[in-house]
Amino acid sequence: MSDSPVALVTGSSRGIGRAIAVALAETGHNLVVNYVRNAAAAAEVVHEIESLGRRAIAVPASVAITADRQRLLHTTIEQFQRLDVLVNNAGITSPGRKDLLDATEQSWDEVFSTNLKGPFFLAQQAAREMLAGLKSHTIQRGTIVNISSISAYAVSTDRADYCMAKAAQQMMTWLLATRLAEDHIRVYEVCPGVIASDMTAPVQEKYDRLIEAGLTPIRRWGTPEDVAQAVVMLASGALPFSTGERINVDGGFHIRRL
Ligand code: NAP
Repeated sequence: MSDSPVALVTGSSRGIGRAIAVALAETGHNLVVNYVRNAAAAAEVVHEIESLGRRAIAVPASVAITADRQRLLHTTIEQFQRLDVLVNNAGITSPGRKDLLDATEQSWDEVFSTNLKGPFFLAQQAAREMLAGLKSHTIQRGTIVNISSISAYAVSTDRADYCMAKAAQQMMTWLLATRLAEDHIRVYEVCPGVIASDMTAPVQEKYDRLIEAGLTPIRRWGTPEDVAQAVVMLASGALPFSTGERINVDGGFHIRRL
């Protein structure tokens, strides 16, 4: 059994998930690095975590697919015999970023399966494992962090499905937080703003212009490490009397201004 706490970070081969996985390793966690396609990138992350003196395994699994989610959880428990932290990070943008009048059901299904259905059912399964771990005193507390987005409340008419799925993640967080509150499992939402990653690379110039023009009070791009620091704080148990909380990591974007 792993003596150290174990974290499962979905979509941690690249971008924000990768930074979260490395930061959790730096703070004493062993890691399950999940990815869907990019085995080489996931292997690099495992290597980086091992060089920090921690254990890590890479598990290919699509969070959108039921059997994959089950295998992901099963492998985690088989390899480490415990799960302390789940970070629901894997997500996709709206394929083709089509205007909502042209948006397709296919895009809706892809986005909702990956960004909402997958995280919900993974959290359900993870919570069951955490409850078993708490009962047997294998773990001291459970933490679930959902990585949503400023798109949960800021409209982009070319990504309607993405915005709606991210908005629903807030209710998902509240529901899980309430159900698990008495069981020593805390559930949080981290709400990143504009963060430099492969996801935002195609729209880099647009955001360069917007940030320059004052989109965010803190006038710079966010980094995956900015988001990772928030997750590390939440996973550390630093906020024991808080659950269902939304932590904005957005340079102040959410503040309405005149
Ligand atoms: P990214 O650079 O595109 O990386 C996506 C990661 O998710 C990769 O590791 C990818 O694996 C994995 N992935 C994709 N589909 C998956 C699936 N079905 N099952 C398992 N893993 C899957 O994205 P990112 O910018 O880091 O975004 C991470 C999260 O933050 C997403 O939920 C996103 O919505 C949210 N977010 C991002 C921003 C931003 O500005 N970047 C802002 C707000 C919120 P492979 O390497 O195998 O493809």
